[in-house]
Amino acid sequence: MDEDFAANHCCDDMETCLSAGPEAALFEHDSGLILLNAGRTEQDGEEGNLLITVQFCPFCGTELQTDEDIDAALEAVD
Ligand SMILES: [Zn+2]
Repeated sequence: MDEDFAANHCCDDMETCLSAGPEAALFEHDSGLILLNAGRTEQDGEEGNLLITVQFCPFCGTELQTDEDIDAALEAVD
């Protein structure tokens, strides 16, 4: 296991997704949260991305962020 690499991301697959940019299915939001882009959604006539916070890495199962982390990050974002 590469310790330097693991300092930022839990596994190769996560690194690949996060380095693919904001259009990737998984990406790092400005708040620092890892979000899943679940597709397009339309609400009240406005189209947008359906974003879901990911608590565990879908590839290796590492806990990425706790409920507390998510709450704190969401509060920090306007
Ligand atoms: Zn992982």
